[in-house]
Amino acid sequence: MKIPDKIKINGKTFTIEMRNNRATNDGVDVGASSCLWSQKIWIDNDQHIESQEEGLLHEILEVVSKEMGFELNHTTITALSNILYQVLKDNNLLER
Ligand SMILES: [Zn+2]
Repeated sequence: MKIPDKIKINGKTFTIEMRNNRATNDGVDVGASSCLWSQKIWIDNDQHIESQEEGLLHEILEVVSKEMGFELNHTTITALSNILYQVLKDNNLLER
């Protein structure tokens, strides 16, 4: 999967910012996070590339959940992003 600089989700353009060691530099101890109102997604690029890719899927689903009013919790979104990532990987749909 190519991790782009920007991604459109439901008609809104989100900027993807790659960061190093977010725990130390940003005080955020997560591999990826997103903000709806600033339309940003942050990904820690100290992670393995697979974790970065799965993190991007996770944040896309977080945004979709909020935008659509699904109000899915983090655990559900983690399960969805993991299985979706597995399907993409097992079917060779993750071009880099
Ligand atoms: Zn989450």
